[in-house]
Amino acid sequence: MFIEPRVGNRHNAPRRGWIEVVCGSMFSGKTEELIRRLTRARIARQQVEIFKPALDTRYDTEDVVSHNAARIRSTPVAIPSEILLLAAGSDVVGIDEGQFFDNSLVEVCQQLADNGTRVIVAGLDMDYLGRPFGPMPALLATAEFVTKVHAVCVCCGEIASYSYRIAASESQVLLGETDSYEARCRPCFLEGMQTKALPSATQSAVTH
Ligand SMILES: [Zn+2]
Repeated sequence: MFIEPRVGNRHNAPRRGWIEVVCGSMFSGKTEELIRRLTRARIARQQVEIFKPALDTRYDTEDVVSHNAARIRSTPVAIPSEILLLAAGSDVVGIDEGQFFDNSLVEVCQQLADNGTRVIVAGLDMDYLGRPFGPMPALLATAEFVTKVHAVCVCCGEIASYSYRIAASESQVLLGETDSYEARCRPCFLEGMQTKALPSATQSAVTH
């Protein structure tokens, strides 16, 4: 489990900023981990602000909600630079669904950390095709602390790091995760992708 190098700032030491990334597939507990860290910072009387992309409205427009319904108030923002304005005075900035922001999120996180803010970004490291997702790879490279969390493969029960899309859409952003995706391990993800790649006539021949 991740333990912060410093939670509060009791002795009024100079503020130190850094970047933490919590990444993984869908259903891996990223948001729960983000909420756990932010809750601890609040206990230490840190000023905490949470942001998420304005497009992510799956459950609630203002709360960051994890699958197990832990929630924390958050501010939806359209572009990362809004975070710089809205986070003024915060000790800790949490960002959920980081993969949906553009690459300017990396520079925004750097600026916040350079100015003494602890930044915690949660997000999908890979999209539904297994490709690095949005600004996440650059954030992983620049963060001081990286935590990769894992889901459980629904096919075989091994550790899962892929988000396998059940729905037919080919858009990189497809909201509504529980009915559109499942967590899969590498072999089960590959097997699913190969089955999808087969023409439908061959596919029905294979399955029947
Ligand atoms: Zn599996």
